[in-house]
Amino acid sequence: MLVYDELKSAFQELGLANKPVIAHASLQSFGYIHNGADTVLQALIDSVKSVIMPTFTYKTMITPEVGPPNNGILYGAEKDLNKMAEPFTLDMPADMMMGILPESLRNHPAAKRTSHPILSFAGIRSDLMLGAQTMYEPFAPIGALANEDGWAMLINVDHSVNTSIHYGEKLARRKQFVRWALVGDRAVECPNFPGDSSGFNAIASYIKPDTRRVDIGEAFIQAISLKRLFEAVQELIKNDPLALLCQRTDCERCNAVRNI
Ligand SMILES: [Zn+2]
Repeated sequence: MLVYDELKSAFQELGLANKPVIAHASLQSFGYIHNGADTVLQALIDSVKSVIMPTFTYKTMITPEVGPPNNGILYGAEKDLNKMAEPFTLDMPADMMMGILPESLRNHPAAKRTSHPILSFAGIRSDLMLGAQTMYEPFAPIGALANEDGWAMLINVDHSVNTSIHYGEKLARRKQFVRWALVGDRAVECPNFPGDSSGFNAIASYIKPDTRRVDIGEAFIQAISLKRLFEAVQELIKNDPLALLCQRTDCERCNAVRNI
């Protein structure tokens, strides 16, 4: 059974005590931990300068009947999902797809959360990063983090959930999308929505020399500096405009990128 001290020493081994961090996690590989997510979160908070996590809320999203062309979406196709959509509120839980750690962070007494209706972030000691977000620049907190020499940390997960790669894609001028979300009784346009991330793991071998990694039994934590990550994403896309896309033939967003 992993305890706080072991988790903390694993996090500390990454050498990020003075760095702000964006973290993504799945806790399963850790096995049983007393007080699970809260213990992992506390060990993380106590080992880095500051932390943010995505607390995205996909159930606010609605799909209109019509909209801009080549937008990686099938208009009018989600009528049943539209009926189930819920207006964003600041206390709306993060999507289950994000795992339970973002919820633990969001519920922490010292945490703040941004109000983007789909792509919100929660953070501790991260007011500068959280304050950078706008409706037009949903991933500005990641850019602000990079300006502060921030790092991306992946806890038992691979780059297919590494949200910061989306920021690199935008720097590489890859196509972004428009989505819509319910806020109150209105549908709000959300520009600069990112592409699909399921092909992102292709970056792993490319950045391996710059990746720090700590193994704890079956579990692992890896971390990469955001500046290096953005450089790598831009290099890959410059060399191959189709880099980091997924291989699914029915992927609306990857196909929209290919169509350009
Ligand atoms: Zn795809």
